[in-house]
Amino acid sequence: MSYRGRFAPSPSGCLHFGSLVAAVGSYLDARAHAGQWLVRIEDLDPPRTRPGAAGQILAELEAYGMQWDGPVLQQSSRFDVYAEAIERLTRSHFLRECTCTRAALARLPENQSRPTGTGEELFHPAACLAVDGAHAPGQALRLRVPAGAIAFDDRSLGPQSIDVAATVGDFVLRRRDGLYAYQLAVVVDDAAQGITDVVRGCDLLSSTARQVLLQRALGLPPVRYLHLPLAVDDRGLKLSKSGAAPAVGRRGGLAGQLFAVLEFLGQAPPAALRRESLPMIWDWAREHWRVEGFAGCAARAAPQVAC
Ligand code: GLU
Repeated sequence: MSYRGRFAPSPSGCLHFGSLVAAVGSYLDARAHAGQWLVRIEDLDPPRTRPGAAGQILAELEAYGMQWDGPVLQQSSRFDVYAEAIERLTRSHFLRECTCTRAALARLPENQSRPTGTGEELFHPAACLAVDGAHAPGQALRLRVPAGAIAFDDRSLGPQSIDVAATVGDFVLRRRDGLYAYQLAVVVDDAAQGITDVVRGCDLLSSTARQVLLQRALGLPPVRYLHLPLAVDDRGLKLSKSGAAPAVGRRGGLAGQLFAVLEFLGQAPPAALRRESLPMIWDWAREHWRVEGFAGCAARAAPQVAC
């Protein structure tokens, strides 16, 4: 089977345990399928990009012995490609322009408008929709989402069905400030890089439904999905690079960290492997990689990692 996977970190901070899980999971899945593994830096949003973070993440991957295939793609160099995708969607009437300000949305009753927390995905009440027309600068562009559930398969979780219209509504592809949204860039780039398999955290499961819709709207090939258990801190919160999640550090050594990721992913590495070298651990992990170990999407506490 042809296989091309990827790891697509946002360079908003250093590699923490959760992003290491995504890196290791996507890498092992690719190598266990004798596939390629690409790295893409998702630096779409300049205010959230931390100078030096991309280089630091790449250096960490190398230190662990994760070698990527081909050049590293940087989303910040691809705005013209995203603009072209917006053009195509506009021509095929898939877009809606939102004339609402965030403040106006916030004033609407709860059942019509509800910020989802990211600040960029808001319920989209009909009152605020402009009909088709020129996309004035300064207006967010959203994908028109059809009613009903979007179905896709996850290799570990099985068939999934998510009603994007009911849970998110028409979602943003280009923000009011002119920046392109993650959902658009990720779909365009996965297709441009010929990605066949997306392996990433369960926090992105609901995004997958949006991305399946976008692939269809853009006429792009479908990809296979595998969502990994989500690493949370001791308060149950997702670890985030921009938050206070401790970076993956040297305590326990890189081999110790890799061993912890394998345990976290339910790979049941034998205890004796803990004392082995990184290459030995990789060999074992590639040979024994099994997605049955994940046991669902439930969040799990990350082991203590400290810088
Ligand atoms: N850039 C996203 C992140 O760092 C991941 C995107 C993806 O894997 O699709 O959370």
